[in-house]
Amino acid sequence: MRSTVKTTKKNKKMPMRQCVGCQEMKNKKEMIRVIRTADQEFLLDATGKKNGRGAYLCPDRECLSKAMKNKGLERSFKQSIPQEVYDTLEKEMSELGAE
Ligand SMILES: [Zn+2]
Repeated sequence: MRSTVKTTKKNKKMPMRQCVGCQEMKNKKEMIRVIRTADQEFLLDATGKKNGRGAYLCPDRECLSKAMKNKGLERSFKQSIPQEVYDTLEKEMSELGAE
């Protein structure tokens, strides 16, 4: 019998994630991760490398405001999200997307 150790190799598809705002599935690389740290802080994780529980958003303030309205983030994190968190996310997002 041949070894089956490398079965993950066939999984070549791009990892897709659902935006908590518009609910669309997109390539995770095109998205912004919102994470909750162990200190219960919410951060935008542009690099995707920070630790913490994460949710994904398109890099679009539209999606952030949708997530606010449909409580997508709250569902993802299973807790209520204070308004100031959205304010911070919006501010960080506009800094990230500065054109
Ligand atoms: Zn979106």
